[in-house]
Amino acid sequence: MKAVRFHAPGDVRIEDVPEPTPGPGDVKIRVRNCSTCGTDVKISKFGHHHIHPPRVMGHEIAGEVVETGAEVTGWSAGDRVQVIAAIPCGRCGECRRGRLTVCPNQESMGYHYEGGFAQYLVVPAKVLAVDGLNRIPDGVGFAEASVAEPLACVLNGQELARVGTGDDVVVVGSGPIGCLHVRLARARGAARVFLVDLNRARLELAAGLVRPDAAICGAEVDPVDEVLKLTDGRGADVVITAAASGAAQEQALQMAARQGRISFFGGLPKDNPVIACDSNLVHYRELTIVGANGSSPAHNAEALRLIATGAVPVADLITHRLPLDRAIDAFGIVARGEAIKVTIEP
Ligand SMILES: [Zn+2]
Ligand SMILES: [Zn+2]
Repeated sequence: MKAVRFHAPGDVRIEDVPEPTPGPGDVKIRVRNCSTCGTDVKISKFGHHHIHPPRVMGHEIAGEVVETGAEVTGWSAGDRVQVIAAIPCGRCGECRRGRLTVCPNQESMGYHYEGGFAQYLVVPAKVLAVDGLNRIPDGVGFAEASVAEPLACVLNGQELARVGTGDDVVVVGSGPIGCLHVRLARARGAARVFLVDLNRARLELAAGLVRPDAAICGAEVDPVDEVLKLTDGRGADVVITAAASGAAQEQALQMAARQGRISFFGGLPKDNPVIACDSNLVHYRELTIVGANGSSPAHNAEALRLIATGAVPVADLITHRLPLDRAIDAFGIVARGEAIKVTIEP
């Protein structure tokens, strides 16, 4: 079969590899869609300490069951499925407390296990053990279902930041994750949602789709001033940074309202993760700063429901559909910020 494999930083190859065989507890699927994200670009350029090459990349996976291991029950050929990306162990102290997103033993599809940029994929027994294989609801296509994984991460972020009714929400970063944040915030009852990006072309592309109450180009105006103006000096109830930018995180603290919540949703480069934080701002304004690390299996199931009910539409966010042999082009499109969501159809 054809697969996209990471060999070394800067060395990603589309090549022929043997079709995988499921073990007794595994399920084999024919991948129908595996969507790309910024992480794939990062991996292709820099590698990842959990990836021992060669490794099939891709973690936003939807497909069709073709074969089940001898011990597998409840699944059969033809079932339409979505696969979680982050696999918690289900047994450690955090997992037992229900904190599956911060399981220290977490493993991931496309990192520890072969990923979805391939014609076939084996869903490991470990995924089934934590309810990580989801049936795709009727009416939801494979491409939409592949977006359930990033939406699940966005859902985790907004639960932690307690986005809710009447909130003014700022989303910094207008890539696919930023767009999902805008849509989900609306679904959760936000009063107004403002979208910020430095790249005007990408901001306009995103704003045309998700229609924020204001689109703020951070290269042209000071986003802190703009948000304060839009909120009569109050600031935003929630600020979500969906960009790998320390400056954006520092600005987020300055544009938050009293008792505001700030989500550092996007991580920073690991060689430059330190920001300046005015701790008195946090103290006197009673700010809450939260992180977000992936999603749990339950978040994935809920994300599929949000897509199926139309609460969070995603079909129009999929701007590019490319075959597997154009995966490298796909990474380029993502890296240059020319698309919202690029999906690969192996
Ligand atoms: Zn992703
Ligand atoms: Zn665990």
